[in-house]
Amino acid sequence: MKASTKAIVEQGRFRVLKERSKRSNQQQQCGGAVVYWMFRDQRVRDNWALIHAVDQANHFNVPVVVAFNLFDQFLGAKARQLGFMLRGLQELQSSLMETLQIPFFMFQGEAVETIPNFLRECEASLLVTDFSPLREVRKWKEEICNRVGDSVTVHEVDAHNVVPLWVASQKLEYSARTLRGKINKLLPEYLIDYPKITSPLTKWMEETPVIDWEGLIANVLSKGAEVPEIGWCEPGETAAMEVLSGSKDGFLTKRLKNYSSDRNNPLKPKGLSCLSPYLHFGQISAQRCALEARNLRKLHSQSVDSFLEELIVRRELSDNFCFYQPHYDSLLGAWEWARKTLMDHAGDKREHVYTKEQLESAKTFDPVRWMYWAKKILEWTTEPEEALSIAIYLNDKYELDGRDPSGYVGCMWSICGVHDQGWRERPVFGKIRYMNYEGCKRKFDVDGYIAYAKRLVNGSKKRKKAWLARQ
Ligand SMILES: Cc1cc2nc3c(=O)[nH]c(=O)nc-3n(C[C@H](O)[C@H](O)[C@H](O)COP(=O)(O)OP(=O)(O)OC[C@H]3O[C@@H](n4cnc5c(N)ncnc54)[C@H](O)[C@@H]3O)c2cc1C
Repeated sequence: MKASTKAIVEQGRFRVLKERSKRSNQQQQCGGAVVYWMFRDQRVRDNWALIHAVDQANHFNVPVVVAFNLFDQFLGAKARQLGFMLRGLQELQSSLMETLQIPFFMFQGEAVETIPNFLRECEASLLVTDFSPLREVRKWKEEICNRVGDSVTVHEVDAHNVVPLWVASQKLEYSARTLRGKINKLLPEYLIDYPKITSPLTKWMEETPVIDWEGLIANVLSKGAEVPEIGWCEPGETAAMEVLSGSKDGFLTKRLKNYSSDRNNPLKPKGLSCLSPYLHFGQISAQRCALEARNLRKLHSQSVDSFLEELIVRRELSDNFCFYQPHYDSLLGAWEWARKTLMDHAGDKREHVYTKEQLESAKTFDPVRWMYWAKKILEWTTEPEEALSIAIYLNDKYELDGRDPSGYVGCMWSICGVHDQGWRERPVFGKIRYMNYEGCKRKFDVDGYIAYAKRLVNGSKKRKKAWLARQ
């Protein structure tokens, strides 16, 4: 359903999830504050959901507040991911208040309770939320719409994708090839600069909450200590912009020119943008990254084109898959040909079979565990469904950017051939694309990579020892 209000945010950018009742409309114009339930797009800059919330609040002469709900448990996130997120939110709270005078509320528990309760407390009649294709988030939104009562309208804004998901395509796309043309056609309309956002005309006059950030962070660090924080990726919007275009080691300022040649060389980790943790937590906008990269197209056309292909087409294809394929993280979500070939070869003899625990502690014979790690899990477990579930488990547990549509699709691509094609049939893999050690040797300096990985592992062991000694 399309929204009916005239707004500075493009109509296609948001959808009305729930309309307040006609009776409520007649009784009052719009009371209370506009509440933005921030979930996926955790930033002040370049955020269409926040722009929309402020615009709507100005239209009705009411204030805006931002609410965030910290779940007790979200898809197995540990200290690594939650520490990164909370540190980013801590910066966000100050900058939201300093630059826009908008208060930030933090709730803990179940969003289906905290958000409707908060709406009642501040007598809000509009809830704005950002968009995620993941099933848990969609279920919560459905439940929140049921619980907020007649007087509340709910808008969902796609602040994550350059072209809003529901505008780009109304169906499950088969591959990048089938989505690319649709997205490219819409870029002139959607890859535009953001309007300047200013403080809402009506200010929040109630108390502003005090948040015990140190306590919250200490709590997630101790509960999720099994996977500790990492030191090489600083969280927050400021750090994200530095990684994109900072003068010291920014991707666009210093590293872009070799992107198309170095991005698949694991010995050159800085050959990539390194933006995915920031994109995942919404600490940077993909649209901002695309706009800034596009400005450099004359200088480095090949690199800019391949970066935009990954950043827009491949990333938005992942959202498309998770939104339109209910089984986005199981074998049922594979195409028919892939399911058949995997089942045909499910009984094939495996040369090595490892348990989840062995895989988790990297107790395998193979010294290379780079991009093809998920492929190897298919080869080293007894059946494809188990392989997929272990790959997702490891990805979500250890990757800073885990629990992301691109992660589910990455695992589905590796194991179930999603968005790929069939290849020459072979044991275990069937027609799923095969990758092996010999192939890696042809592509990059495997020994150099192993030495590099060992240095990283030793460094991290030393840091862990030092940390334990301090406890
Ligand atoms: C097995 C497997 C698991 C993966 N798990 C994750 C994950 O948990 N979270 C995650 O965000 N990505 C995941 N990916 C996709 C991709 O590998 C990473 O997004 C990318 O390596 C991140 O590094 P970067 O930001 O430096 O990438 P860059 O090459 O600089 O790309 C820029 C951005 O484009 C997007 N992008 C790049 N490659 C892909 C891709 N293949 N599919 C979708 N989007 C892409 C990402 O948003 C990325 O940040 C996975 C891929 C595979 C094969």
